[in-house]
Amino acid sequence: MEGRSIKRASNKWLTTESKPVIIAGPCSAETEEQVLETARRIKKSGKVDIFRAGIWKPRTRPDSFEGVGEIGLPWLQKVKWETGLPITVEVAKASHVELCLKAGIDILWIGARTTVNPFAVQDIADALAGVDIPILVKNPINPDLTLWLGAVERMQKAGLKKIGAIHRGFSNLGETYYRNTPQWQIALEFKRMMPSIPLICDPSHICGRRDILFEVGQKAFDLNYDGLMIESHIDPDNAWSDAKQQITPEVLQDMLSKFVLRKDFEDEAPVQNELQYLRERIDHIDNELINLLSDRMSIAREIGSFKKEHNMTILQLKRWNEIINRSMKKANNVRLSEVFILKLIRAIHDESIEQQSIVFRNEKSE
Ligand code: PEP
Ligand code: MN
Repeated sequence: MEGRSIKRASNKWLTTESKPVIIAGPCSAETEEQVLETARRIKKSGKVDIFRAGIWKPRTRPDSFEGVGEIGLPWLQKVKWETGLPITVEVAKASHVELCLKAGIDILWIGARTTVNPFAVQDIADALAGVDIPILVKNPINPDLTLWLGAVERMQKAGLKKIGAIHRGFSNLGETYYRNTPQWQIALEFKRMMPSIPLICDPSHICGRRDILFEVGQKAFDLNYDGLMIESHIDPDNAWSDAKQQITPEVLQDMLSKFVLRKDFEDEAPVQNELQYLRERIDHIDNELINLLSDRMSIAREIGSFKKEHNMTILQLKRWNEIINRSMKKANNVRLSEVFILKLIRAIHDESIEQQSIVFRNEKSE
């Protein structure tokens, strides 16, 4: 299917109508030359709306580069003056907010390591009370939707009106495919809870590497995100932070030209009718699935009574292993992923155990 392409670059705040918004720039401002040169080359692409650069870097471990600090702010003023691009900077405490406001920074963002801390978020909110500046809130590093929602609510309570959210994935233990697992369902739930807040994807921090940035960015567009924040550096391999995930402005331009944007609504009647027909079939199958599950649970309850009567344990390990093995084999035969079927069969088994436990408890209390 042919989609639209990204070509617009304008100085606008993002709204769900003006999407997609593309934010790009280095992980960190390192030197004046690096910042300016990156911005010039990003501007040349004509596809980026907002320039990003970290000035204060909340690093996981000490002894890493922690940002140049406020001496970098005048470099960003120069970027704005020369390219006209609005600037966004990460703030982690009230003093950062004050310095950014003084320097005329256009948009602030709260990083993942700050969103986890309600005291820090509240300090930022207090420092922003009465100021009409856009703010973007990254998801917390841990998969806790309420912390993310809570941080946005703190900004709303401070009177901020232009609030966006950034999905940058969630940290995990050890080496994994992603640097931060996306856990898309959390971001989609965020969108469901706060539909008026634009949602931006940050593929750079999700991926932690360059080779899969495109697939994650495209997935975000396929899921109807409102924009992307991508790290771009003139010399990615020698970047002072996040070297592995940064790309040159030219690679970024090429990537942006390849994304396919899709509309979330198609109002032509034949298309709608066909979709409607397919959805009715899905609804019918969902109904059948629920009926089948209900039948399965009544048999599970009967088995529960039987086990109780014969003084047998609810969990029968040998039987459970048989169910898993049979389901895995079946999954392969019908082209379903083993991971998915294992999750499903576990959920069903858990519920059967719960139902049998109720049978055991009820009969005990008789
Ligand atoms: C960043 O954007 O450079 C950054 C530090 O991101 P996060 O807060 O998502 O780790
Ligand atoms: Mn970074």
